[in-house]
Amino acid sequence: MTQPSEQIIDIKNLSTAGKEKVPCGSKDLIERARAQNKSEIIDQYKKDYPIGPHDQPQSMCPAFGSLRVGLRMNRVATILSGSACCVYGLTFTSHFYGARRSVGYVPFNSETLVTGKLFEDIKESVEKTADPDKLDAIVVINLCVPTASGVPLQLLPKVINGVRIIGIDVPGFGVPTHAEAKDILASAMLKFSKTEITSGPVKKSLQKRKGLPLVTLVGEIFPLDPMSISSMLEPLDLEVGAIVPTRQWRELYTAFEGSLVAGLHPFYTSTFREFESVGKPILSSAPVGYEGTASWLEKLGNSLNLSEEKVGKSKELVLPLIKESLKEQKLNGSVTLSGYEGSELLVARLLIESGLTVKYVGTACPRTKQSKVDEEWLKQHGVSVEFRASLESDLQAIDEHEPDLAIGTTPVVQHAKEKAIPSLYFTNLISARPLMGNLGIGSVMEVVKGAMNNGERFKKMKKFFSGVGTGQSSGVWHPYGEKSGKFKDMISGKKLQESNKKKEQVKC
Ligand code: SF4
Repeated sequence: MTQPSEQIIDIKNLSTAGKEKVPCGSKDLIERARAQNKSEIIDQYKKDYPIGPHDQPQSMCPAFGSLRVGLRMNRVATILSGSACCVYGLTFTSHFYGARRSVGYVPFNSETLVTGKLFEDIKESVEKTADPDKLDAIVVINLCVPTASGVPLQLLPKVINGVRIIGIDVPGFGVPTHAEAKDILASAMLKFSKTEITSGPVKKSLQKRKGLPLVTLVGEIFPLDPMSISSMLEPLDLEVGAIVPTRQWRELYTAFEGSLVAGLHPFYTSTFREFESVGKPILSSAPVGYEGTASWLEKLGNSLNLSEEKVGKSKELVLPLIKESLKEQKLNGSVTLSGYEGSELLVARLLIESGLTVKYVGTACPRTKQSKVDEEWLKQHGVSVEFRASLESDLQAIDEHEPDLAIGTTPVVQHAKEKAIPSLYFTNLISARPLMGNLGIGSVMEVVKGAMNNGERFKKMKKFFSGVGTGQSSGVWHPYGEKSGKFKDMISGKKLQESNKKKEQVKC
């Protein structure tokens, strides 16, 4: 095997790396990565995270997903290796979302990339950070340029002073969304912990449980959701096990103890593969709304061969409450919904059960085996479902359907507001709420109702501000909102038209 110090990285095509504007998702970078021994990982990502219609991030940098999973874990440090501009954006976002801890960074320049010194720098930084009193693991994330230039994180030591080292490549040109980047780190950790389990006894989880058979949950869910699921599992003599991505290293071992894995979020393709490799059944969808909860419990019962009586008890306990809440929160109106969190289909189901007409659901995540159940249900309810939806198709849906409420990403919300359509930002206002069981209904519907009631106010505002800040009245012209003669005419094309007219006349 090539020793790290002998590793020579030929990056002649990257001689301006660090200075150039790196195109996220560039085909050129994929070729460079392939030429630098990254073909295996690029091919695996291609299988796990199929592209199309869009093949590059239209949202935040995908690596944020992995960064976030690492930062949420206790006793885990994260080190980024990438261009300074990318690292600035990623650390900014992580602190915006309350990381409350430092993110390590190994900078590089053309020389350290060319000579392979960057790898040595990463290794040194990992060795310095590996303090077993403080850490269980260190995550090192290669961003676009180090991945394209083949920085071989796989050559890092697997363990230093008892601290595990997890090196992953998370380039924008192979990982289309930050949701799928969560899967990359979650599955890398599961894989590591699986080898520990197979090589001997491992430490017990610190979490207190009753000792009942466990159901492992997969998905970054709101803290109230496991409590809702726990109340559904109690009559079945089951309890909630680990929630992947986990908060503690030991919980990774517990994740493998689950009798069944509930794939609450459908995009964890690589994570599900780890569980399937040890024969764990995967349950699709989630207990959301009345029908969603009823069918989720029935399928759970079937997978674990539970008696109909037991499943019936659980249903009796939760379904009447859900029915009552849905009745209380009944709403009318039409909605378009889009996002990149991967829970869009579940939210759409809940909105439909609450009486709303959902016209369109666009998710930046791909269609997977686990999303099939929700896709079919939505299609049966007349919804147009688009996987790997592009921003263009999300905007088109708003123009086409003119909904009473548009839920979506920042540019989608902006587009809707310009049309005086009430709108909600999916990531902060919808996906950061409980969704499961009875508790989910009140929380989501309250915010939806509040936004929909703003319709009239939006119309008044549009009328009042009509023409301000749009077209020629945008920018820094003085006095505000007025055309300023010559220059305005010039850029509006009026002058050009006049001059063309004169030319035509001369010709005649
Ligand atoms: S690391 Fe993220 S921000 Fe930087 S170039 Fe790649 S995808 Fe874009």
